[in-house]
Amino acid sequence: MKSSSPGKRHSLFEHFRASKMFGKADIIFAAVLLAAAVVAMVFAFGAKPRGNIAEVYIEGKLAAAYSLDQQKTVSFDVGIELHIDNGKAAVTKSDCPDHLCEYFGYISKAGERIVCAPNKFVVVIKGDPEYDAVTGRTQA
Ligand SMILES: [Zn+2]
Repeated sequence: MKSSSPGKRHSLFEHFRASKMFGKADIIFAAVLLAAAVVAMVFAFGAKPRGNIAEVYIEGKLAAAYSLDQQKTVSFDVGIELHIDNGKAAVTKSDCPDHLCEYFGYISKAGERIVCAPNKFVVVIKGDPEYDAVTGRTQA
């Protein structure tokens, strides 16, 4: 901001200082509004987009990655069957004792994941901005 209008800024400051209405509650209200705006922005710009890639991690290491834009069933040595079905992925079979991973159901949004703790198996959906979901081509 240029200092061409110091008088105006000063009077504004004086106004706030003199105003009995501008108290702690107003500051808290302003802070809440600001926080709400930040949250809204996070939702607007950082909202989880539809993912297009399923990354598979076994024992913390990236084991495989599949495009979600297909129908495919993959079996892993750890006893897990991953099903990819046109934009979503699910663990459809697992030999783990709790079968919690099967209850995750299908995931499709970037950032979503399925975890099978007993098998140290994780599926993470990634949204690759380079990947064009409309044409199904990776722009490089
Ligand atoms: Zn499991």
